[in-house]
Amino acid sequence: MNKRYEVLFEPVSIGPVTAPNRFYQVPHASGMTEANPRVRAAFRGVKAEGGWGVVSTGAVSIHPSSDDSPLPHGRLWDDNDIASHEMTCDAIHEHGALAAVELWHGGASVMNRTSRITPYSPSGIPWAATHVGFMGNLKPRIMDKQDIKDVLRWQYEGALRSRQAGFDILYVYAGMGYLPYEFLLDDYNRRADDYGGSVANRVRFVRELLDVTKEAAGEKCAVAIRISLEVLRGRLSDNYESEAHEVVSLLSDLPDLWDVKMDASPTDCGSSRFRQEGAHEPTIDFMKQVTDKPVVGVGRFTSPDTMVSQVNRGILDLIGGARASIADPFLPEKIRSGKEDQIRECIGCNLCIASWHDGVPVRCTQNATAGEEWRKSWHPEQFKPAHADENVLVVGGGPAGLEAALVAAKRGYQVTLADGMQQLGGRVTLEARLPGLSAWRRVADYRLHALKQMESVSLYPGSQLEPDDIAEFSDHHVVIATGARWTKSLYSASEVPVGEMEGPSVHTPDDLMAGIVPEAPVLIYDFDNYYMGGVLAENLASKGLKTFYLTPAGHASAWTIMTNEQPFVHAALHKAGVIVLTQSLLLEHDGERARISNIFTGNEECLAVCSVVIVGLRLPNDSLFRRLTSSSDNPEQRNIRSIERVGDCLAPGAIMHAVYSGHSWARNLGCVSTEDNYLRDLPVSINPPGAAIRKFND
Ligand code: ADP
Ligand code: SF4
Repeated sequence: MNKRYEVLFEPVSIGPVTAPNRFYQVPHASGMTEANPRVRAAFRGVKAEGGWGVVSTGAVSIHPSSDDSPLPHGRLWDDNDIASHEMTCDAIHEHGALAAVELWHGGASVMNRTSRITPYSPSGIPWAATHVGFMGNLKPRIMDKQDIKDVLRWQYEGALRSRQAGFDILYVYAGMGYLPYEFLLDDYNRRADDYGGSVANRVRFVRELLDVTKEAAGEKCAVAIRISLEVLRGRLSDNYESEAHEVVSLLSDLPDLWDVKMDASPTDCGSSRFRQEGAHEPTIDFMKQVTDKPVVGVGRFTSPDTMVSQVNRGILDLIGGARASIADPFLPEKIRSGKEDQIRECIGCNLCIASWHDGVPVRCTQNATAGEEWRKSWHPEQFKPAHADENVLVVGGGPAGLEAALVAAKRGYQVTLADGMQQLGGRVTLEARLPGLSAWRRVADYRLHALKQMESVSLYPGSQLEPDDIAEFSDHHVVIATGARWTKSLYSASEVPVGEMEGPSVHTPDDLMAGIVPEAPVLIYDFDNYYMGGVLAENLASKGLKTFYLTPAGHASAWTIMTNEQPFVHAALHKAGVIVLTQSLLLEHDGERARISNIFTGNEECLAVCSVVIVGLRLPNDSLFRRLTSSSDNPEQRNIRSIERVGDCLAPGAIMHAVYSGHSWARNLGCVSTEDNYLRDLPVSINPPGAAIRKFND
């Protein structure tokens, strides 16, 4: 290990328990629930194996009045839920790490769509009332004293059940709009009783939650508080520097650990496009001055030097990781063994968060094995040996081809990779040059760095292959990873791509990334609705070109709501001076004017634009594959062992899908495919369903 990093491997006392090092996987959503307990246990367990000293759950609801369905979350509602959490604790403890549970009551931020209990709140004020996903057409109830007592009892019972399951650290969660947070902020807490008004009163509910959790924890478990400080830090306080200072000072040494964060997902889990590593620091940097208890915080830390700096400068005691631990569960172990150059760094794309918004187990761009540890037995660092002493040819060195090559080489195949471009990396080489996307380069960097060190791998950049070139690779397994291209296809009112728009002033993202500068004023027409249209518009406008952005969707880059980016996309477009037009179709363009129509009314208008960039349909670059597999020219004639397409060449999608596709192909080579043969998880329960209720009714 590099001596500089030794400080990261010091143990840290957290109340009655001791973290073996400073790497702390903070609570984060996994999309895994009691419905898939083995998937969940394996996902958390592999992080402990990779060296994270503490591994936490995501939010675990303490009562059906905190029911966030259909979004996935954990539960400890009754004793039936203990067994599945026990599996997680066992998987974490097996590797010497501590297990933490984020006990959670969502208050007014949950809609209790399944339990149908009227949501709880301090003063009847909904959370994010106009935000899709939080809109429930039902105002929360104002909690009376009995409701407060009930929630305290549920927290106590949840803590007892957590203890029974084997957790070492029990959380009180006062962040991100959830119930205790709503008590802390006077925006949501308008109470006239002793739970409202002064900060000392607003803190009372959190203090009582800590008290009951400590009572349940006894001498066995530590009690942590997770708190959002962004808004509180911006509020003046009479006797302290801010309300954040006051809240933390009032509770100072009551919890055994402070876990500090921002107030909403877009700022707390900001994408790399809009937030740098360590972006939380200005909000949480005062913590060590007001508490003697250890402090953990996050900041998409992937650099050990940054981590050491956080500790040495007295900002954090424990280095929190959520996304960093998803992208590389073995990050601590790689630092410990002096292999920090092999860390698979998170790129900050937030597709893991989009998975949660989709309601499914976590998926990751950088780590194709995330969520597949149990279902497919995919270990992030271990690979089944090659089924035979055979060779692989990968055509295309983008994310899919690089991942296929790396996994095949790790399995022991001899790998040759060829790409027509001088620089390997495919689309990420080009896209990483766009505003805010430089971290995406890590997708190629990590893989190329590893491939270049392997003797069994030969890389041939600048080698465009034709079918006849493949003849030289008889006896090889050939994987075609030749990517996709953007088309000039338009979009119809019934939401299908129609004919292409022709003309010298019509461009695609590929043209712009190849260096073409469209004539201004320029219209970006985006029905892809992910990042590309917004990024290109921002890029052109910031170069001084008058830029319109047009989309049939209701927002710019509409799908980026899933990655926490949409508010920032709109702000960035506004700042760059882009004119945003939504809910509209592009009908035609004559080189001087674009005719557009409203998708609802059909009303038409004209925009004076000299060029158009269409960001819509991508089609696979699969001509090489088709020529190689056509009946007149089949692979047997070339003595090719097998031929497959992966990544965008198979089906265009996000980089995450391309990496997964390449990974899956290489894992499955010579094996029974896990594509349709994987383990399906089942819930575990000690009692038959409904036993407790039936007993009560009898
Ligand atoms: P993916 O996301 O699926 O990995 P990319 O578009 O990022 O796809 O990468 C595809 C790569 O394939 C590009 O770098 C491109 O230069 C390369 N490529 C396409 N056709 C050929 C070919 N016939 N021979 C060699 N390389 C090719
Ligand atoms: Fe990081 Fe993207 Fe993976 Fe999430 S999906 S952990 S942001 S690389």
